[in-house]
Parts: sequence; structure tokens; C-alpha cells
Amino acid sequence: MAKVLIIGAGGVSGVVVHKCAQLPEVFSEIVLASRTESKCKTIAAQLNRPIKTAQVDADNVPQLVALIKAEKPDLVINVALPYQDLTIMDACLETGVDYLDTANYEPLDTAKFEYSWQWAYQDKFKDAGLTALLGSGFDPGVTNVYTAYLKKHYFDEIHYLDIIDCNAGDHGLPFATNFNPEINIREVTANGRYWENGNWVETAPLSINRVFDFPAEIGPKKIYMMYHEELESLVKHFPEIKRARFWMTFSDNYLKHLEVLGNVGMTGIEPVMFEGREIVPLQFLKALLPDPASLGPLTKGKTCIGCFAQGIKDGKPMAMFVYNVCDHQECYREVKSQAISYTTGVPAMIGAKMILEGKWKKPGVWNMEQYDPDPFMEDLNKYGLPWQVVEVDPSAIEG
Ligand code: NDP
Repeated sequence: MAKVLIIGAGGVSGVVVHKCAQLPEVFSEIVLASRTESKCKTIAAQLNRPIKTAQVDADNVPQLVALIKAEKPDLVINVALPYQDLTIMDACLETGVDYLDTANYEPLDTAKFEYSWQWAYQDKFKDAGLTALLGSGFDPGVTNVYTAYLKKHYFDEIHYLDIIDCNAGDHGLPFATNFNPEINIREVTANGRYWENGNWVETAPLSINRVFDFPAEIGPKKIYMMYHEELESLVKHFPEIKRARFWMTFSDNYLKHLEVLGNVGMTGIEPVMFEGREIVPLQFLKALLPDPASLGPLTKGKTCIGCFAQGIKDGKPMAMFVYNVCDHQECYREVKSQAISYTTGVPAMIGAKMILEGKWKKPGVWNMEQYDPDPFMEDLNKYGLPWQVVEVDPSAIEG
């Protein structure tokens, strides 16, 4: 029996709130707060149990502190934007409350995400006796837990890790991003980066691709290498990994739109002057693009996200693939949201449950792979993201 404060009322939040509301024995009280309270009320109206809503500007620590002091939650779930991670962590420290998020901190004016800013809070959380769980979405999140699970049950050492994220869904619109457009486009237009023999190797954006044959009738799809934040924590916590890469599928149509938008400067994050005032092109573009939350009823098809690991077990080479397949329309039927928000929101709920049940709770700042993967993997099967683990031919990833 615990009280949670959920901050942010976008696509991911909608799923977290629905999933927490389905488990009153764990989440006995839910408060949903965001910049625009009406969005909290819209989510609240979809539930079959009452929750409380509130307005808060999560860039403002005193406002957050006042809200946390008034509500006294056991845990704050941050599903606002990565820009708010540090202010929410500061407010949790000031009020003595545990913290969870789904994406690592990113400064607004630099398209650069890395854990250094949040790892720097390690001693503060430890000294305060508080738990901070970082990146409890799918990727990062479940992909970190998958890696820990493979290591625990199938490998003595993982040498090569490929995280593969496929969205084979179609929303039928000319161009839309399936989570926050600003964060999505910053991520996709950044240089690629992978880990090899103790160093980061940088590549031009989306310059390396190959074809991967996905399970569950998805079939062969082009995957593009890019940087993703879980690579940083995974190579730190599994130093035996010689090479770690992240791949994502994109349709030709998405890439063509992105190329044109990039060429005309619409994906820039530097302010430009327009009719006497400064605007940030990417923020303006976000205002024009469909709200990811509105894609729910439109999107058909499946997602498949997994970890392809190669290494050794008892001196013999071993290759395994662990993955989940999720259906956009089934997600919509259950929680009024497409699979991208679903695959992020369910692990956020499970991460929160792990902390509140004391299974994943120790003072400090932690990435998902630093805890025992087994109870989390069990809950993925129970709460909507069942997984498969199969032995594979290593050549399947070599394209
Ligand atoms: P949305 O843009 O749909 O929602 C963000 C919400 O945060 C909005 O309700 C927004 O309010 C609110 N918000 C923004 N700024 C503030 C602020 N200063 N104070 C209070 N509330 C604020 O994003 P998503 O739901 O798609 O993504 C949520 C998070 O999940 C992001 O951090 C994203 O990076 C992460 N994510 C993680 C994934 C993973 O697998 N790990 C995958 C996908 C997303 P308003 O409505 O007023 O703008």
C-alpha cells in the first residue's frame, strides 16, 4: 500500500497511470501532476478508480517541493521530459522521497544525453538513504534488465551486445513521431556511437544500416545504428563487453521527411529570430506535428525490441536473443495508447512496484542492470510485456 506522485501527463504517463491504477494493492493512492492540469484530468477520466490531479512546473524546485510536502508520496515517478530530471531529483532529496525516471538528463540547449549529471547524485541519494532508479522504460529499461538476465542465466561473459528496436507499426500519417517529437528528433539526428574495445566510435547520423529478420511475422527490416543511452551504463556495469551497439528501424518515408526537415533547418535547436522574437525551429516543428498521444487509435502493427548477445558459456560460444513483441491495437484497447508509450509505461510501473515492494531498494542512484533481473522479468510476463528467449545464429546480426 503506497502513494505515488506521477509527474508529466503525456503519452507515457497515460500508460503508467492506467497500469498503476490496475494494481490498487500496490498503488493505493495516485496523484498525477503536470504543467497542464487539464491533461491530468483527461487521463484521470479514463480510469475506473479516482485519482488526484495537480498543476506543477517541474522546472521549478520550490513548486515541486511544496507539492511533494503537501502530498507526502512514497515515490515520485518522473514521466515529464529529460530536461526535468535534475530538478525533480533535487526536490526528492529535499523532501526525502524515492525517485524513478525513464530517460536520462539532457540539457535543453545541447542535444547530448549522458548519465554523468545523474550519476553525480550517487552520494547525495546514498547519504539521504533514498533510492533513485534511472531509465525504467523499455530502452533504456527492459533492455538493461534483459542484458542482466542473459548474463545471469545464459552466459559466463557477454562479449557482443546488439540492442534492436523495431517499430513495424503504421499510423497512416505522412510524418509523425511516436514519442515526444523534440526528444525523438534530437536523438535520431545526433551522431551515432558504439562501444568497441574500450572506446566509443562515432559515426555520422544513421550512416550504418543492415537488414535484420524479426520474429512474429514482422520479417526482414532495415535497422540503423545510432547512439542510445543504455549503452553507456551497460558497458560500465558489464566491463567484459567488447562491442555494444544499438539499432532502430525507420521507414523510408520517415527518413525522407527527416532529411528534408533537416536540410531546411527545421530540426535545429539553436534559436532563430522570427518576426522580432526568438524561436527554436525544433520546438516550432513540435507544435506542428501530431501529438504522439493522438496516434493511439490510428496505429496498427507490432513492435519488437530485444537484446542479441554473443559470448561464452562453459568455454563454448553462445548467442541468445531475448525480445518482446507488442501489438499497437491491443495496447490501445487496454490503455488507450499505442505500443511505444505502452512499452515505456509498463516498465515504469514495474520499476515503481519493485521499489515500493522493497525488491529493488537501496540508497543511491542505480541503473536497472544493477538489480536482480528475475522479479522484474517475472512481472513483465504478468503485466503485459511477455518475452521470449531463444538461441540464435550469430550471423543473424552481421547483415
Ligand atoms: P510527452 O511530450 O507526451 O509528455 C511529456 C509531459 O511532460 C507532458 O504532459 C508535458 O506537459 C509534461 N511536462 C513537460 N515539461 C514540464 C514541466 N516543466 N513541468 C511539468 N510537466 C512538464 O512525452 P512522452 O510521454 O512521450 O515521454 C515522457 C518521457 O518518457 C520522456 O522523458 C521520454 O524521453 C521518455 N521515454 C522513454 C522511453 C524509454 O523506452 N525509456 C521511450 C519513450 C519515451 P505539457 O502537456 O503541458 O506540455
